[in-house]
Amino acid sequence: MLNTALPSLAELENATEFQARHLGPWEQEQAHMLSVIGVASRQALMDGIVPASIHRARPMDLPAPLTEAQALAELKSIAQQNKVMRNFIGQGYYGTHTPGVILRNILENPAWYTAYTPYQAEISQGRMEALVNFQTMVTDLTGLAMANASMLDEATAAAEAMTLAARAGKSKSTRFVVCHDVFPQTLEVIQTRALPLGITVDVVHAAQLAEHLTAHDCFAALMQYPGVNGQVRDLRPLIDALHAKGALAIVAADLLALTLLTPPGELGADIALGTTQRFGMPMGNGGPHAAYLATKDEFKRSMPGRLVGVSVDSHGNPAYRLALQTREQHIRREKATSNICTAQVLPAVIASMYAVYHGPSGLTRIAQRVAAYTAILAEGLKALGRTLIHSTYFDTLQVQCDDRDAIVAAAVAKGINLRIASADTLSISLDETSTRDDIIDLWTLFGGTKALPSFAAFEGGVALGLPAALRRSSAFLTHPVFNTHHSETEMLRYLRALSDKDLALDRTMIPLGSCTMKLNATSEMIPITWPEFAHIHPFAPRDQLQGYDLLNEQLCAWLSQATGYAGISLQPNAGSQGEYAGLLIIKAYHESRGEGHRNICLIPESAHGTNPASAQMTGMTVVVTKCDSEGNVDLDDLRAKCEAHSANLAAVMITYPSTYGVFETRVTELCALVHQHGGRVYVDGANMNALVGLAAPGQFGGDVSHLNLHKTFCIPHGGGGPGVGPVCVVEDLVPFLPAHRSAGLGTPSQVGAVSAAPLGNAAVLPISWMYIRMMGADGLKAATEVAILNANYVATRLADHYDIHFSGGSSTIKGGGVAHECILDLRPLKDASGVGAEDVAKRLIDYGFHAPTLSFPVAGTLMVEPTESESQAELDRFCDAMIAIREEIRQVEQGQWPQDDNPLKNAPHTAASLLKAEWPHAYSRETAAYPVASLRQQKYWSPVGRVDNVYGDRNLFCSCVPVSQYQE
Ligand SMILES: *Cc1c(COP(=O)(O)O)cnc(C)c1O
Repeated sequence: MLNTALPSLAELENATEFQARHLGPWEQEQAHMLSVIGVASRQALMDGIVPASIHRARPMDLPAPLTEAQALAELKSIAQQNKVMRNFIGQGYYGTHTPGVILRNILENPAWYTAYTPYQAEISQGRMEALVNFQTMVTDLTGLAMANASMLDEATAAAEAMTLAARAGKSKSTRFVVCHDVFPQTLEVIQTRALPLGITVDVVHAAQLAEHLTAHDCFAALMQYPGVNGQVRDLRPLIDALHAKGALAIVAADLLALTLLTPPGELGADIALGTTQRFGMPMGNGGPHAAYLATKDEFKRSMPGRLVGVSVDSHGNPAYRLALQTREQHIRREKATSNICTAQVLPAVIASMYAVYHGPSGLTRIAQRVAAYTAILAEGLKALGRTLIHSTYFDTLQVQCDDRDAIVAAAVAKGINLRIASADTLSISLDETSTRDDIIDLWTLFGGTKALPSFAAFEGGVALGLPAALRRSSAFLTHPVFNTHHSETEMLRYLRALSDKDLALDRTMIPLGSCTMKLNATSEMIPITWPEFAHIHPFAPRDQLQGYDLLNEQLCAWLSQATGYAGISLQPNAGSQGEYAGLLIIKAYHESRGEGHRNICLIPESAHGTNPASAQMTGMTVVVTKCDSEGNVDLDDLRAKCEAHSANLAAVMITYPSTYGVFETRVTELCALVHQHGGRVYVDGANMNALVGLAAPGQFGGDVSHLNLHKTFCIPHGGGGPGVGPVCVVEDLVPFLPAHRSAGLGTPSQVGAVSAAPLGNAAVLPISWMYIRMMGADGLKAATEVAILNANYVATRLADHYDIHFSGGSSTIKGGGVAHECILDLRPLKDASGVGAEDVAKRLIDYGFHAPTLSFPVAGTLMVEPTESESQAELDRFCDAMIAIREEIRQVEQGQWPQDDNPLKNAPHTAASLLKAEWPHAYSRETAAYPVASLRQQKYWSPVGRVDNVYGDRNLFCSCVPVSQYQE
């Protein structure tokens, strides 16, 4: 009998289940919010805000959505097309055991992975302590004075070291030397980076470096330690020869080997760099992993990337904060030391905790085991009649074999990958995961039918392949933090204590304009640690990577639907790298047409700092254009500059919707204007969360964009990385997308590799795949609309209390009509109250919130981006806090509280400061701690008072220091 009360089968199957999970406000809440804004429907809101001129011609063509379980099953079947092998390829990627306590409590823990970059120091003390541990680990192991808190990968770190040396070194030479046994992918990324800067790259055999220097100048040289084929060379003579020439010595070094080897700093190196992958991060087909970069003290102000330092808080207690930000792109723009914004914080935290957990003796034991197994493998291979090319080694052997292809084939049949080092040699790299059985299998492969050696001979010990003159004698990781948390209980509590100090998305909305802190759903995260994705070597034979190939193909096709672009490369591993790649593509395009002289890049003054910094890296000259009073690109000024630079115009970089969160109505006109002058339009895609499903930059006139998959497509920010910054191009630019020649990929017309691995941060791509697969075209469009709805709801609720800067000026919408974010202008309040945007940002901490974006794109403002994932209840909690704070400001304006002593100026309030016997302030302790009643149920206590940034830069400490030293 037909049961008419039963919903349809399709409804019961609920294929759109995830849409409702991803979106914060449910239907009734949306209806209420629309009524507050004063529009009848979501469609009416869109009609009032999104200019008709940019509407998509047709909806995105994406597969119908799947439930969470279905999507996981489909992705599993894709993952299983990868072949998980035993890898002995080395070349910068090694097997490693992620300690379970770190896997579950960091990599799989939203308290760590959903945090933002630690710009707000007070709510970021936990992860900054972890990053100071990272810096200390790197300085200790490398023997250098300063280290930053992560680079994107070893190859880009080497490229950054090259430009650092060019900038900070004394030599005027434009030649850079790379030793022959540097990782090939590192050489390729260096060559890509050197080309537009006019740097000549010489590849020289390390044994001939000194001789080369008698005939040639150079400003620096890069050496690999140990070399790609395992040789451990004494670099002192090379370093001395370089210094005699006034050139800098850069050493790419393996951190695990440095527990046993004399560190680069003691050899005299100026800069050291490398990957920290083998400290607990799975290979993941190439990333994400944190790279490191360390320098002598004299180069600290030229250091690229993020640096965490120690300062003091308002109570005189030590507190961490980001140091020397005046080097960085968001302040120095085209004069910045590098374009790095998002780095690799989560992998850096993992690597640091791997060192904390194992401690110096545990790390040494792992390194000794690897070195001992390698020596045993070497002895056995020799006993089996094999010739080793090098007599020194740590973990890698290069073996002569005339039967190379037969061995490789036999190895693959056994599930083993070796590295093809030359026409008649193979190399084998061991690692933390290597076992006796592995060694026996390797002996069998190389020994044929010969009787195998026995382990018995080695039980008492074996001579290692490390030269006696290069054995490390200095201590490392002596700070208590590396010598305390060695039981799992201690470690668990240390990790918990650190994450409890921080505010991440698991506790509160993070309404950061431009940064799009939306839901990072658990089902999206689950696949990243599947062995079929995690335990893949990026330089494994291509036929073993079919799962990743399919993931790449599908994700690119879907992102192509979302953006309207014809071709996409997922290789750039942050937005900044996507910008850099995109501008290289534009350059290559002009050169292909004999117009290589086009080198002017017009960038509006409101642009994100990475834009001018990236343009500078490609050798372009940045010309800044104006914005009008509404925050739009000043088209008259742009036209004048296009005309003035017409013959040399390479590109114009805009952000859409603008960095002010406004849909500029004349964007198609702007694109046409640039094209008339022979330039190409770069549309910064960081604000795609306002566009997906509604408009596509590739359709409204953009030629190139980067996306931030760690913003719009749900990859978590990880406390400041990893990210993925795909570069997307129109049809005629597809031939120029980045190649990866060292992995055998690409044509001569393509620009060179921009990342160490062909697929960049490959292992986090499943997150975006899951998001799109579960949302479908309608779901993604709904997400965009709800993001715009949420922003307009906040703007409307706050419009009576704050000036909303640069709203779109819609007369039909109460808040004025903003896109997916809105700017609150605090400047008008400053005169009467002395309270500025920073005070409001810090006071929000007392209310339990992470601040909105502070002073970008306009100084003295807060930019709020709620995203679609926040419910009405959370938006109201935020609006109520902002309104209460406005009332507090009014009390200062009216003189009830002094301008220099009020809850805003003294925020954030620590528990300790409230428990002091004396309370000399004009407001009560209750007002300080519990300005709204709900805080009595749930309260976040800032672990430190307001952090003094200036003090920290004047007294720079960037590693764990004994408190006594710090107090000097
Ligand atoms: C975040 C952002 C970038 C930089 O992206 P990263 O991944 O941090 O390098 C560039 N432009 C805009 C507008 C952004 O918001």
